[in-house]
Amino acid sequence: MAVMKSLTTHIGGYPRIGAQRELKWALEKYWSSKITRDELEQTASELRQRHWQEQQGAGLSFVTTNDFSFYDQVLDTACVFGIVPERFGLSNTAVSLDDYFSLARGNKDHAALALTKWFNTNYHYLVPEISEKIDFTLNPDHILIPIREAIELGHNPKPVLIGPVTLLSLSRPARGSQINPLSRLPELLPHYAKLLQEIKAEGVEWIQIDEPILSCDLSPEQHKALASAYDYLSNTGTRPNILLASYYGKIANNLNRTLTLPVEGFHIDAVSAPEDICTAARYLPEGKVLSIGIVDAQNIWINDLNQSRATIEQVASRVPKELIWIGTSCSLQHVPHQLDSENHLDANILNWLAFAKEKLNEVSLLSRLFNDDHEESRFAHNATLIESRKTAAGSYVDSVRQRVSTELPKITLKRTAFETRQKSQREQLKLPLLPTTTIGSFPQTSEIRQARAKFRKGGLSHAQYQSFLQQKTKECIEHQEKLGLDVLVHGEFERNDMVEYFAEGLEGFAVTEFGWVQSYGSRCTKPPIIWGDVHRPKAITLDWIRYAQSLTNKPVKGMLTGTTTILQWSFIRTDIPRIEVSQQIALALRDEVLDLEASGTKIIQLDEAALREGLPLRKDEQAAYLEESCHSFLISTSGVEDSTQIHTHMCYSQFDAIFDTIIDLDADVISIETTRNRMALLDVFQQKNYPNEIGPGVWDIHSPRVPSVEEISDLIQRALQHIPAERLWINPDCGLKTRAWPETIASLKHLVQATLSARANL
Ligand code: GLN
Ligand code: ZN
Repeated sequence: MAVMKSLTTHIGGYPRIGAQRELKWALEKYWSSKITRDELEQTASELRQRHWQEQQGAGLSFVTTNDFSFYDQVLDTACVFGIVPERFGLSNTAVSLDDYFSLARGNKDHAALALTKWFNTNYHYLVPEISEKIDFTLNPDHILIPIREAIELGHNPKPVLIGPVTLLSLSRPARGSQINPLSRLPELLPHYAKLLQEIKAEGVEWIQIDEPILSCDLSPEQHKALASAYDYLSNTGTRPNILLASYYGKIANNLNRTLTLPVEGFHIDAVSAPEDICTAARYLPEGKVLSIGIVDAQNIWINDLNQSRATIEQVASRVPKELIWIGTSCSLQHVPHQLDSENHLDANILNWLAFAKEKLNEVSLLSRLFNDDHEESRFAHNATLIESRKTAAGSYVDSVRQRVSTELPKITLKRTAFETRQKSQREQLKLPLLPTTTIGSFPQTSEIRQARAKFRKGGLSHAQYQSFLQQKTKECIEHQEKLGLDVLVHGEFERNDMVEYFAEGLEGFAVTEFGWVQSYGSRCTKPPIIWGDVHRPKAITLDWIRYAQSLTNKPVKGMLTGTTTILQWSFIRTDIPRIEVSQQIALALRDEVLDLEASGTKIIQLDEAALREGLPLRKDEQAAYLEESCHSFLISTSGVEDSTQIHTHMCYSQFDAIFDTIIDLDADVISIETTRNRMALLDVFQQKNYPNEIGPGVWDIHSPRVPSVEEISDLIQRALQHIPAERLWINPDCGLKTRAWPETIASLKHLVQATLSARANL
């Protein structure tokens, strides 16, 4: 009997940073002139080849090309079409690699393009700037050269390209322009068409065009733009077949219209929105390809193969098998490269994980589902693994579940009225008006990083490392006393990262050695993995805060990372609802808060740096998220006495959509980022009569530049126009871990000086 041919397979993109972060190291060496451009190109080409080999090795029908980038795929796409802001004074027809890095990183004369969060991921893209004048053009080499490389190596390339509507929707008007970027779509489209023609000429059969904007709430204008863009592209000249891809969420109400677009196939994210794939299968126009994004590319768990099989079979009952493709939900750039390098993960946990390379095999295996020789035993083994998670020690911890179900409902989430708390905190803390403080971290110098690395490798004993950290903490307290700051911090020297540090102190989390994921450019993060029920075996921060407090009579803030930020910056388990994970973490932090309070800490800060960015893309999902976030913050903070002051910190400047939540968090003090927006952010706090205290940042800590006393004074005066002195704090925009000591001391000196003169004039 003939063996049925496997389904077509592909991925949305592969991590480009390299299993050993080769690209990161090469980029950083190139930027500091330690390697040549050729050497950098060489690394890039090796990475591309290795990554294609991995895809081919797994037996995928296509290798994905144009997923490699030296910095960011949105900037790449902008450069392909000549979208180079005029303010840089660069050519837009020949964008050299160094010009490209100038756009990405800025240079001495020009600020870089803005960096912002890419949909609901922890990746950040560079925002293209569009003006009336910009002349679109086509610089196709970035796309064509890798296609040729791949063909030469015997691969079947499927390039991915960001679609025109997503590209323009994510752009912003250039400075001084009022243009709606999408209004320039008609002039951009001929260049897309020309590009498709050139790609076809290379012998490419299929191109994947990504329109992740489909997972957002779309305006009528965006709908029109999608219709006209794909009408144009499908009818102009020769071109490869187009697979139109959507991912990062449900298409839902946009699905009907999407399916009428004149392309040859659709890729649907079946992980974020299983219901979309069923609808798509039902209404798919005849003869079109349906690519099922069934392997989760935003999380690190093994695929539930049997569940996927059911979905694929359901699709196959409506769509001919030769038109079904199997793929990842989106690009694998959001997960670490491979498990091979992890030598210290618990063997059980390891069995439940699949990073990018392992996911290739899952895609491949699922494509062989209908073959006569499909590997039934692997499906059975997978079912055992999935089942083993449910019963594994640590996955389900009775005491944790008990606590959530019995203790949580009894917690009174509302604290006493703010005015009452404020009074009692004033009596207790006796701070001057306009109290000065910092956000928590002080410079993480190379000395500290080296000591940590040495300790990890066994070159420093625990005692030696502790005493080194104590010494740094002591110096930090001394600096702050000398500077005359009012509320001190211990400096966070013991922390490698504000989330990983807590992950290491909590049960239910695993921390990888090499699980790096690109955040932007050469920057990577290593998200912890929440695999089990979360609880706190012992206090995490207490000893450090107590030690720091023992060195000074001024109040030292206890520093914690809030639940939502921990969740947003981790890979989260999906076998129980997110809200339960959130409640478990919130309770663990509540214990930490109460322990800090009991040991005499009068001010406790919970950072929620990721609360705003975690906001779901769809309006109809936002309320539940905000409620859950607020709830977790209140679980952690509501147990303290009136006299204990709760701070929170949020380092960004888009508050409108979450402002009501900020009020509901009811932190006694919130610190925010206001230097670059010159206090404009305080408008909304003023308009909405924000009742509690606020520390608007007066020093932009993102650059080594030292602000003058006058600049800081100006910002303080502006702040005073919005917020009365009784409710105003003075602090930098964010933590100082990326700064060096000299500019830190100089800037804080100016900050204190500016505050003293503002106080004198009150
Ligand atoms: N407390 C943290 C620090 O100071 C806050 C960092 C952040 O908001 N990203 O580094
Ligand atoms: Zn911050």
